[in-house]
Amino acid sequence: MNVRFLIIGSGLSGLAAAIRYARFSPDVLLVEKHSRIGGLNSYFYRNGTLIETGLHAVTNFAEPKNKKAPLNQLFRQLKLNRKQIHIHEQIASEVCFTNRESILFSNNFEILHDQIILKFPHAAPGFDNLVSAINAYDPFYLRGFISAKAFLLHYLQDSLLVDMIMCPLMFYGSSIENDMDLGQFVIMFRSIFQEGMFRPHGTIKDFLDLLRHHYEQFGGRILMQSRVTKILHKNRKVSAVELETGEVIQCDRLLSTIGYQETMQLLGRETTDESVNRLGFIESIFQLPISCRHRLPVDRTIIFYNTTDHFLYQRPQSFVDFNSGVICFPSNFQGIEPQNYFEIRSTHLADFFSWKALQSDRDAYLAKKAQAARRSTETIAEIIGNFSDNIVYEDTFTPLTVERFTAKKEGAIYGHPQKFKDGKIGYDNLFLAGTDQGYLGIIGSMLSGVSMVNQHILPAL
Ligand SMILES: Cc1cc2nc3c(=O)[nH]c(=O)nc-3n(C[C@H](O)[C@H](O)[C@H](O)COP(=O)(O)OP(=O)(O)OC[C@H]3O[C@@H](n4cnc5c(N)ncnc54)[C@H](O)[C@@H]3O)c2cc1C
Repeated sequence: MNVRFLIIGSGLSGLAAAIRYARFSPDVLLVEKHSRIGGLNSYFYRNGTLIETGLHAVTNFAEPKNKKAPLNQLFRQLKLNRKQIHIHEQIASEVCFTNRESILFSNNFEILHDQIILKFPHAAPGFDNLVSAINAYDPFYLRGFISAKAFLLHYLQDSLLVDMIMCPLMFYGSSIENDMDLGQFVIMFRSIFQEGMFRPHGTIKDFLDLLRHHYEQFGGRILMQSRVTKILHKNRKVSAVELETGEVIQCDRLLSTIGYQETMQLLGRETTDESVNRLGFIESIFQLPISCRHRLPVDRTIIFYNTTDHFLYQRPQSFVDFNSGVICFPSNFQGIEPQNYFEIRSTHLADFFSWKALQSDRDAYLAKKAQAARRSTETIAEIIGNFSDNIVYEDTFTPLTVERFTAKKEGAIYGHPQKFKDGKIGYDNLFLAGTDQGYLGIIGSMLSGVSMVNQHILPAL
């Protein structure tokens, strides 16, 4: 087979890149190793029920009339109509540093602003200056690493408030420990605090089906259960990919969405990065009957919590760090009709290598997973109330699960700490998009796919 443009990976960056190109030419092929599209943000079935793997909330909420908003720009680039997706806005979310302070925020930025005035009055003028500096900052101008933490401390002069502001942004989009690059911080501050969060109506499957159908309508093709095992290249030019089956597909241009080192491995250019800490997470899903909903918060969409004096966002020493995390109520969005069951999801930082050490002992691995889920329910019960007696179904994904299903090295959702913002990794016709290009999360990865196609692929068409 011979295609003009080939994309490895049908996660959200690959799907968006494929649609963007297919708008101009149908000579595009998406190659995915798994049997479902979506990558990190996909779904599976248990007992006939669809369970989403990733979706807490989509960032970058924007009203349809706000033409310049990233969400609407993305829709335009993909030729998607906002009316095709019904959006449920978050109710309110909270950053809760137990026994210390909590702040609320929603899709109305004034709420966060008022909370700062109320809870951190001494930092309020600094917060206004911080917001002005964020508004003036161009996060897409390529620079070296600038510490977001130092930037925030300069304006706010309050390390608790700095940690509270950084906590949600780190959990939803930082691949580095205990700090963020200022550009990434600005993108995340805008997308979570200034724009806000929502859920598309239905499940992630509905959203993925819409994207796939849209892509196929433009004539784009997709190969499922087709793992790329080699990228064939000579000097700085890629000529083809080889699949697990041995089939070779020639291509003129290649976009890889599977990560930097993962791509280098396919090129036969293994790189080592032992000094680098990739961040793993453990995610538990608890399903409960609707009859218990009134006993748990109905007015909070997501709670980002921390229980210690100093918030640490780093790879834990052992399996899981329960001192901080994210609690998500996927049904607590505006206008979502109650179903028979509802979910609570919890996320904590986890150490890939501790879980990896149990890989060969299935019983011990499963027991540790069950123990981690118990510990998670006990920890978050301190914040939202006890619910463990009412759980009817639960599942837990460790970094090992993420690695197994998406081939993300060490199951690190946000990839390598170093990013390749221009998508270039030393080849004339091979580029990187998605997690390791640098835009994270659902909308971030889709924007990454679109921008890499715009910069590197379409000009050659
Ligand atoms: C538990 C969890 C919760 C999350 N919650 C949210 C959320 O609420 N909001 C949000 O915005 N983001 C969330 N995210 C993050 C978001 O899902 C990711 O940032 C985004 O989906 C990344 O997309 P991607 O295309 O860059 O990478 P991926 O989704 O990793 O896509 C890469 C694809 O490449 C495929 N692949 C890998 N190797 C090969 C190969 N050799 N050959 C062929 N195919 C290959 C993989 O199977 C995968 O489909 C969450 C992630 C997880 C895991």
